[in-house]
Amino acid sequence: MTPNHSAVTWKGRTGGQRRGRLFIVSAPSGAGKTTLCAGLLERMPDMARSVSYTTREPRPGEKHGLDYFFIDEDTFRNGIDAGRWVEWARVHENYYGTAADTIEQSLVDGIDMILNIDVQGADQISARFPDCVRIFIMPPSLEELKRRLENRGGDDEAAMKVRMAAAEKEMARKDNYQHVLVNDDLDRAIEELTHIVSGYRTSS
Ligand code: ADP
Ligand code: 5GP
Repeated sequence: MTPNHSAVTWKGRTGGQRRGRLFIVSAPSGAGKTTLCAGLLERMPDMARSVSYTTREPRPGEKHGLDYFFIDEDTFRNGIDAGRWVEWARVHENYYGTAADTIEQSLVDGIDMILNIDVQGADQISARFPDCVRIFIMPPSLEELKRRLENRGGDDEAAMKVRMAAAEKEMARKDNYQHVLVNDDLDRAIEELTHIVSGYRTSS
């Protein structure tokens, strides 16, 4: 099955007002992209974050509508058929997707938006929105990535293995991104991410 975008249409903006810009943040699971994006949004509260839809189970503490919209596989597949996702992918044996209407309104309203999505989703969004900005977050090492996944909790051993096996493949795709950032010291990494994003926001 391949993503089908044919049912998605995009309203143009009238009146010459600036359209919003999409910032894609990708990383292997556990590298810290959720944490970094939260830090970025604290510094730039006028930006929005896309809340994805997923078929994975919530981790302890995750909230429906805030971290993800947790839906079942039938609902996700129906969404594919209906053209509801502007991009979607199967990642670590679960489905993840971005609702077209989530980002459509932001772009039309001139609001910049962060999409925390995997490398497959990044390819789909880049094809559709060539002026999007792609940022890849690297962990300092694979050992540290494993430690962070363990500390975070919520993934059983099988899920951890799947995530670690996927990590190297995902990191091999980092050259497709305009910016690569290593998340070693958290405060420094948030500063760097903020610096990258603000460069685009002040220049457009
Ligand atoms: P992702 O969204 O990429 O899967 P998370 O943001 O959930 O990753 O981070 C995974 C774990 O690593 C969390 O427990 C988080 O608190 C921790 N973490 C994130 N960044 C750092 C960092 N720079 N140093 C140490 N721990 C970190
Ligand atoms: P997690 O289960 O750790 O929250 O996320 C697993 C992976 O799915 C991460 O690489 C994350 O970026 C990716 N992901 C989350 N939401 C989406 C989405 O809407 N689309 C795509 N393509 N990937 C997503």
